[in-house]
Amino acid sequence: MPLSSAPPASLKVLFATSEIHPLVKTGGLADVSAALPAALHRLGVDVRLLLPGYPQVMDGLKNKWVVATGIFEFGEVRVLSSVMPDSGVPVLVVDYPPLYRRAGGPYQDAHGRDWPDNALRFGLLSRIGALLGSDASPLSWRPDVVHCNDWQTALIPPLLYYAQGARAATLMTIHNLAYQGIFAPELVTHLGLPPESFSMHGVEFCGSLSFLKGGLYYADHISTVSPTYAEEIQTDELGFGLQGLLSERRQQLTGIVNGIDAHQWNPASDPYLAADYDAAKLGRKEANKSALQAWLKLDPDPAVPLLAVISRIAPQKGLDLLLEIAPALLELPLQIAVLGSGERSLEHAFLKLAREHRGKVSVTIGFDEGLSHLMEAGADIFLMPSRFEPCGLNQMYSQRYGTPPVVHATGGLADTVVDATAATLKDGSATGFVFEPFSAPEFLAAVQRALAAYGKKKTWRTLQKNGMGRDFSWEASAAKYLALYRSLIK
Ligand code: ADP
Repeated sequence: MPLSSAPPASLKVLFATSEIHPLVKTGGLADVSAALPAALHRLGVDVRLLLPGYPQVMDGLKNKWVVATGIFEFGEVRVLSSVMPDSGVPVLVVDYPPLYRRAGGPYQDAHGRDWPDNALRFGLLSRIGALLGSDASPLSWRPDVVHCNDWQTALIPPLLYYAQGARAATLMTIHNLAYQGIFAPELVTHLGLPPESFSMHGVEFCGSLSFLKGGLYYADHISTVSPTYAEEIQTDELGFGLQGLLSERRQQLTGIVNGIDAHQWNPASDPYLAADYDAAKLGRKEANKSALQAWLKLDPDPAVPLLAVISRIAPQKGLDLLLEIAPALLELPLQIAVLGSGERSLEHAFLKLAREHRGKVSVTIGFDEGLSHLMEAGADIFLMPSRFEPCGLNQMYSQRYGTPPVVHATGGLADTVVDATAATLKDGSATGFVFEPFSAPEFLAAVQRALAAYGKKKTWRTLQKNGMGRDFSWEASAAKYLALYRSLIK
């Protein structure tokens, strides 16, 4: 059965992933897996997703049909074909109920414990990905590139390396280096890998089997979600033990910034706002500030600068710095609004601050999509002092909403925010305030620079308009991935 109506000459990409919005999501990988293939599809790439047949995937995809059946040492595995409901991107699903069809999350059970057979579950996903990228594929559709994402699909490059005959090129993308898929060495041969692959020059890492190490070692190319993070993961500080390998492979390591959903995050049509606006109607932003102050029970003052944080409250996000500078900041006429949840001790410290400064500080613990949109629109300045940040999204949303961000110069923050200096204000590139090193005095100084600029109406309008004019859409990033794929099959 023909699988697609894409033009015959287009580049073929198999995008292997363990989660996808809106079917199954635990983090940012799900958003990328939905948006990037959709953008590639619009660019004319013949891209197909490869997903495990979790219940959420089996139930969420209608009209599935079997395109291949394979006999493995443990049983029969079916590959089903379908189409993503929103984007129309074709999907291949690995259907093997004993490993995938169970209640709970994609990686963990309902109690937050990792599934004990995760090596087999994602080993099978990788084996099917490798099979479809090899000469032995049962399908007539052969990808030119297999794009692997995070550890769950990272055995595809080693498996393809040891496969017979012609094979697809491989790209291994790191979305989160902290999770590596580390398992007992005995599993190597149960996952279709030859024993000799278990070596320092292979899938071995500190005596264990590491899926991610294998992917990074054997992939034709590696990418991560921002150019600065691509540099940072080569250092002892942020390399999670893989800095040596990543640094050795730096010639084949590229950083490409994630895009944002430009429809969902558009102040001109955002249903969560009190008033829609764009760069030509920035005055209408004030109605959102009033609505936000009312929602959060902050003093109703249109002139006072309102600083916002929307974040997981985790050490990575550097919010301890905000607590440290809060006493100095709160001497000034300003308001602070925080939305987030996470580490209990930090949550309590923020709640205490709000109790001590009623009308001036508001802290909302929890996850609230609507409030997050109104905060991006109603605040004047956005704060994101992350210790490290592979890409980050909120700093891009805030620029699009005319709310210049104050950020630490790390990862995607360094790549997407241009510090306001005399020169960048003059050449029209300034969009926010960037500080380094990561320290309370530097953060405070950057916030003070932002407050001073806020006081100069013309400067502030320039900054807002510069940020609102930036192109953070997926189209720009997808074009970079396409160029990278092309370079791999030359
Ligand atoms: P990370 O993926 O590390 O948490 P990002 O900035 O890349 O950080 O993305 C976080 C996403 O989650 C953004 O879309 C942000 O708006 C959203 N978010 C985080 N915390 C909350 C919250 N408490 N309420 C609503 N949205 C939130």
